[in-house]
Amino acid sequence: MSAARKNVHVINHPLAQAILTELRNKNTPQIPFRKGLVKLGRLTAVEIISSFPTKEVSVETPLNVKAKGVVVPDMEHIVIINVLRAATALVEGMLKSFPYARLGVLAVQRVEEKEGIENVKPVKFFVKIPKFNGDDTVIVADPMLATGGTLLTTIAEIYKIGKPKRLILASVISCDYGIDQVTKKYPEAELYTVAIDHELNTHAYIVPGLGDAGDRSFG
Ligand code: URA
Repeated sequence: MSAARKNVHVINHPLAQAILTELRNKNTPQIPFRKGLVKLGRLTAVEIISSFPTKEVSVETPLNVKAKGVVVPDMEHIVIINVLRAATALVEGMLKSFPYARLGVLAVQRVEEKEGIENVKPVKFFVKIPKFNGDDTVIVADPMLATGGTLLTTIAEIYKIGKPKRLILASVISCDYGIDQVTKKYPEAELYTVAIDHELNTHAYIVPGLGDAGDRSFG
């Protein structure tokens, strides 16, 4: 494994893999597709939370007896960035696991100047990211990590504000090309993804992929 790939986590949980299989199926209609993305958002957040440190606490139960337990302090310091519009359903699921998260949005359109993956450029037209500090974990949600162009643009916008405690990228399918582009430039970024596909077609769609995540979720 290359050094950069040490921060890449594939979510192999059978439930996540079964949901992904439904999403890949071209016969899955819009509403079940979107609901599947919501479920994956929740599962991805749970997987991310597994990497957070816990702190032991003691609470008193209704039986007036003390019980040992834990809290997860970092869960209160979360900023989620919704890369519009495809990430919206994924973010909805993540917010169920991170109810205190602050939310930012970034609208980027993929513009294909001419055929060929190096000619698919992200054009950003709206950015709103809440202020954060070195105690915060910033999670960028983007279901398809294809060329990496959108994520590179998003990370550059985040770093204009500051350096978070952790920078986490949450995607459903990532492809080798995009992972390499992002991790070469930002090796500190941690990627959580449900699958890694190996090919991109000439229009920069992931193969086998699941098609256009925004169109399949929202029509
Ligand atoms: N965006 C998508 O929605 N699908 C792809 O395959 C690549 C980028």
